[in-house]
Order: sequence, then structure tokens, then C-alpha cells
Amino acid sequence: MDKIKMLINGEWVGAGEDEWLPVYNPSTGEKLAEIVNATEKQIDTAVEVAREAFESKEWKSFKPYERGQLLMELATYIRENKDKLSELECLDVGKPMTQARNDIEAAARYFEFYAGAADKLMGDSIPIEDGLLDVTVLEPMGVTAHIIPWNYPIQIMSRSVAAAIATGNAVIVKSAEDTPLTANALAKWFAQCKLPKGIFQHVTGLGSTAGSHLVSHEGVDQITFTGSVKTGITVMKAAAESVTPVTLELGGKSPNIVFQDADLEKAAEGVKNAIVQNAGQTCSAGSRLLVHSSIKETFVNQLAEKFAALKVGRGIEDPDIGPILNKRQYEKILSYLEIGKKEGKILTGGEPVKVEDTSGYYIQPTIIDGLEHNSTLAQEEIFGPVLTVFTFEDIEEAIALANQTEYGLVTGIWTSNIDTAHYTAQGVKSGQVFVNNYGAGGGVQMPFGGYKKSGIGREKGFEALKNYVQIKNIAVKYNM
Ligand code: NAD
Repeated sequence: MDKIKMLINGEWVGAGEDEWLPVYNPSTGEKLAEIVNATEKQIDTAVEVAREAFESKEWKSFKPYERGQLLMELATYIRENKDKLSELECLDVGKPMTQARNDIEAAARYFEFYAGAADKLMGDSIPIEDGLLDVTVLEPMGVTAHIIPWNYPIQIMSRSVAAAIATGNAVIVKSAEDTPLTANALAKWFAQCKLPKGIFQHVTGLGSTAGSHLVSHEGVDQITFTGSVKTGITVMKAAAESVTPVTLELGGKSPNIVFQDADLEKAAEGVKNAIVQNAGQTCSAGSRLLVHSSIKETFVNQLAEKFAALKVGRGIEDPDIGPILNKRQYEKILSYLEIGKKEGKILTGGEPVKVEDTSGYYIQPTIIDGLEHNSTLAQEEIFGPVLTVFTFEDIEEAIALANQTEYGLVTGIWTSNIDTAHYTAQGVKSGQVFVNNYGAGGGVQMPFGGYKKSGIGREKGFEALKNYVQIKNIAVKYNM
């Protein structure tokens, strides 16, 4: 049994006898490893060490392109170890191997992208008056805390860590208590690389203790959090006490809008993939289908056939749908299905699945029809393989329904009419819009984040670099 230690100040730090937490394989229910439930003192040490490392001459003398070179080395390491890392992610999260491999590739791409960006981020010169030179310079924030969820551990960690190190910050990662394995694998790389120790640290433990202490710490200069709205609000309140900026990515209830002139086969494939990826445990999952009433029956039948053909099973066997992460999440989804049965009509799925010789938690991919727009299932993030169906009569109604939740992360639009596409894209309150596709392959270059309760700020792309820099304006008066 692996006992996973934390990386603090370049040392591997464990816990007392009773302070280890179990980590399970969601596919089988077997115990995979144990992690440290970090104490407040250990978190304090990590923050102090990060501060010292950030202020050190050694770190200040690292040129931006040298930071980039290091990140590029990490990208190479990730690619060279793709098989091993994919297996770790598959075991830890339960996700099908193909999806785990995509996640490892995305992690490498984040480090590559921000490696290239490290020496290309520049300030401005601003015309004020003759005899005065006004410039802005971008400086790193300092100590950045990265709170990682369990659904895409290596991807979500990589996207913010790469941007934060590229811009010269010291980083503390707190991985999710259920899924620390790939963060630990990257920590092993960081422990032996040329970065000053303390520029990258990895801590583990419960969100309510370790996570909460980290985000409340006066010594933290910036926080990036991905997870639930409820916890995001708690994090933001804690950060407010020390006026620490936060970047929040808090999930969604994203619609796929299918117009009557869409290529229905392509749309059905896109709508299916948008909800079943990672068993629906995806912040950007397309969990609502808004379909024109004239094509509803045909389209939903097409979709239901596709859903019924999906294979549910252990991640390592690379099915279409793996297990739900843990019992708590499984029971939460089942309780939503119970509501669905009472308030709507299950078109396909709706039941748990027993996968032989495992104690994993599996659920059939499900389509639910006949719900009210203001119902629980139409409004709340289920975070499981459950699609809810609604119809619209015209474009205005489609846009209104798309906007009728408290979220605004992603919208998919399926149409062959360019005017319909643009008009709808403009009308929806959503951080990303995809026309005749959903996700564009993940795109590390595209800014990602939400309107409304889907979050604050943007990750990915050049936009994300702004989370990790202060802007300093310098006005120089010269008398000649
Ligand atoms: P969560 O938001 O509670 O946890 C996410 C991360 O935050 C974990 O690392 C956790 O340890 C940490 N955390 C928890 N409480 C904290 C606190 N007070 N201060 C600092 N960090 C804290 O999510 P969960 O309980 O694992 O899942 C609950 C629901 O959240 C899910 O059912 C799903 O709806 C949603 N979720 C969304 C995403 C997303 O990508 N947006 C990811 C995971 C979960």
C-alpha cells in the first residue's frame, strides 16, 4: 500500500499514525493508497517556504525563458511517461483509459503552451506627455494556492500550475482527497528539477481542514479554485478576509441547442459525448438538451439508441462510461434520478449498473424528458451521466431557456444556418460557445470560465496569465 507523502520545502513529509486518509479505486472499490491529512502547521510551513522561495535571489535570477525551458522539460517528461500516468489517472478517478490518455496529453499541452508564453508576456507604454515615460510592468503575484477537484486532477492542476510558474510565482497545490496520484507523480518530477525548492509544493488532506487553512492563510497572494459553487463561495469568503484575489471555476448546467436545420447525426454524436464524458462528472458537461419541437421525437430517439449502446465498466477496460467517483457522489446522482422518475419521464437508463467482481458505483447513461424548466433537475448540476430534455419553438425561446439557470459555462449550438449560429452565440450568457461541435478538442489555447455562478476569471489560453500577475505602472519624468 502506497503511503503518499507531501512535497514541502523539497522534502517528503508524512503524517502521524492516525492521520492518513484512504484513497480508493472507484472502478473496484479497492484501497489504492493513503494520503496525509495535512495539519495547519504543515500548511503554515508550506506557505512560509513558498514565500522564502519566491523572494529568493535564486528564483529572481531565473529568466522568463529559463522558466519556460523548465516547463517544456516537464511536458516532455509527461509525454515520455504517458502510459504510466494514464494508468494512475484511470485507477484514481475511474475514467476510461482513452479519456485518461487524453487528459495526460492535455496536461503536457498546458506545460508546453505556458512554456512558450513565459517570455512573451509584456507590459505597455502609455503616451501621457512630452518628458514623461509611462510604462506598465507585469510582476508575479507571489504565493499562489491551487485547489484541485477530483474529476480531472492532472489536467486542472497542470493548467493553473503551468500559468503560475510561467509568470514567476511560487505554487502550492492542494489535490482533492480522493485523487492525489498524478499530482504526486508530478511532485516527484518537481522534487528533482532545477527549480528552487519551495517554488512547487504539494499538500494533501481534507478540504474542510487543509484546504480551508490554505485559502484562509494571510501568506497566500492568489487562489485558483475549481469545484462546487458551495465550496467556491466558502473559499471566496475566506479570501475576502485578506483581500486575496480568486479565480473560481464552479461548474455548470450547460445546454446543447439543436435547431431543426442541424445535421442531426453529428448533433446526436456531439450531444451524447458532451454528457457521457467522464460519466458526466465534468464541469462543462452538456447536461441539458434544448431541441426544436419539430425534430424532438426523431432526435431524441436517435440519441436514446446511442445511449443504450454505451458500455459501462471498469476504467482500465476502456468502456464508454466508467464508475462514479465515490459513494457520496453516486448516492447524490441516484437521488436526482428518483426525483426525475417522479417529476419527469425516463427515456433510457435511470438505474444503477452492477459490474461483476467490483464494489464500484456505476450508473446507466440516462435521458429524462417531461421536466419543468424551473425543476430541480433542470436547474441543479447533477454531475453524472444524466441528460435532461426540453423543447423550444423559436430562437428567442431557445436563448431564453439556455440562459434560464444560475450557471453560464458552455453552450453548444447545432445548426446549418450562419445567422442562427451567430445570433444565438451572441444571445447566450456563457463563457464558451461551440457551433456544430462541443469542446473543440479541449483547446488549451481557448479562454475558459463562466458567467454568473459558473465562476470568476478565465483559465486556459493567454487570458489565464492575467490571474498570476500584478500590474505596476511606472511614470518617469525627465527634465531635458
Ligand atoms: P468541493 O468543491 O467540495 O471540492 C473541490 C476541492 O476543494 C477539493 O480539493 C476539496 O478538498 C477542496 N475543498 C473543500 N472544501 C474546502 C474549503 N472549505 N476550503 C478550501 N478547499 C476546500 O467538491 P466535492 O465535495 O468534491 O464535490 C461536490 C460537488 O461539486 C460535485 O457533486 C459536483 O457537483 C461539484 N464539482 C464540480 C467540479 C468542477 O469541475 N466544477 C469538480 C468537482 C466537483
